[in-house]
Amino acid sequence: MTSLMNTVTRLPVRFTHGEGVWLWDDKGKKYLDGFAGIAVNTLGHSHPRFTKILQDQVARLIHVSNYFQIGELEKIADKVVSISGMENAFFCNSGCEANEAAIKLARLYGHQKGIDNPAIIVMENAFHGRTLATLSATGNRKAQAGFEPLVTGFVRVPFNDIASVRQVAANNRNVVAVLVEPIQGEGGINVGTMEYLRTLRDICNQQNWLFMLDEVQCGIGRTGPWFVYQHANVLPDVLTLAKGLGGGVPIGACLARGVAAQVFKPGNHGTTFGGNPLACAAALAVLEIVEDEKLRENADAMGKVIREALAKEFGGVKGVVEIRGHGLMIGMELDRPCYELMAQALDVGLLINVTADNVVRIVPSLIITESEAREIVTRLAPLVHAILAKPRVETKSAKG
Ligand SMILES: *Cc1c(COP(=O)(O)O)cnc(C)c1O
Repeated sequence: MTSLMNTVTRLPVRFTHGEGVWLWDDKGKKYLDGFAGIAVNTLGHSHPRFTKILQDQVARLIHVSNYFQIGELEKIADKVVSISGMENAFFCNSGCEANEAAIKLARLYGHQKGIDNPAIIVMENAFHGRTLATLSATGNRKAQAGFEPLVTGFVRVPFNDIASVRQVAANNRNVVAVLVEPIQGEGGINVGTMEYLRTLRDICNQQNWLFMLDEVQCGIGRTGPWFVYQHANVLPDVLTLAKGLGGGVPIGACLARGVAAQVFKPGNHGTTFGGNPLACAAALAVLEIVEDEKLRENADAMGKVIREALAKEFGGVKGVVEIRGHGLMIGMELDRPCYELMAQALDVGLLINVTADNVVRIVPSLIITESEAREIVTRLAPLVHAILAKPRVETKSAKG
């Protein structure tokens, strides 16, 4: 471990292989994966059809360059545009890069309108990535501390609060866009109401602002429809994707429609790796397999199974503040920090995660079966009850 930069505290387990929603460590112990690599492994581990497509692509072509036409890139662009209702797409390698593209697009849109200091409205508890611009857009002071000076040009308002957006609209002539996660992931599985999304869309129309949705974590079928905004029957002007898109192969995307789709011209933005044949073939395979195996329907149904099992186990239990989420993006907020749950879950052969200090996050693969979904709650329940049985100590948040 000493050869690695000290950026993260790792749990004491090393996985060697996986199959479906199951992982094995180097001692042969088997784990149920309720985490999917932070909502990344859409198809679970070692999905046979996905594996075959990746193997064939690796044997044929991995990388050329965006100086040339790329067939796999054209195919995934057509596909992602058709399922999203957007018009065009830029492909990169991660969520933060997708958001960097969106932020640059919004600023250029502003300059094209004659606004010299364009500003973007962002939310409290938002997470948009770790690059300097996306860290500045992120609403987490702990993540930002020490990296000042931050990038300027962001105006922060509370999440799910229309009144404060209207107030900014009345007072700030420099705003060009709103950037928001329909469901905040890292911030604690906070669900934006459908009315909130629709009203933001209306305000953006009135103000000529770009409505930019970060669906890096919540998108790609996890909540039932391909994208969360489809529950609300609105379309964004800019949409960012990553995590679940490549099923574990790194890929991100920034999509646009209407005026936003015309902002970038050759030379405005670029990438070396983005849009390479391997990542594009992976993403295309993920979307086709999700469709063929009806995994969006499964995500919706299995999400209900898990939330109902949690409600049955913890409904009315003192210390459980709220069980929330949509489809297979589920959070259970406790009244105390609970980071120790992750290590305790490993002991009982379960992978879950804790975010925002006190929210148990369950974001399994979309292929999970009903018995596997129930098993997550069966393994998790005694651990949560044990934490809640202890006297609650008032501490500062557990993680720096
Ligand atoms: C994870 C995440 C990001 C950043 O993605 P990276 O691939 O880690 O750069 C951005 N936005 C949201 C909503 C995320 O969950």
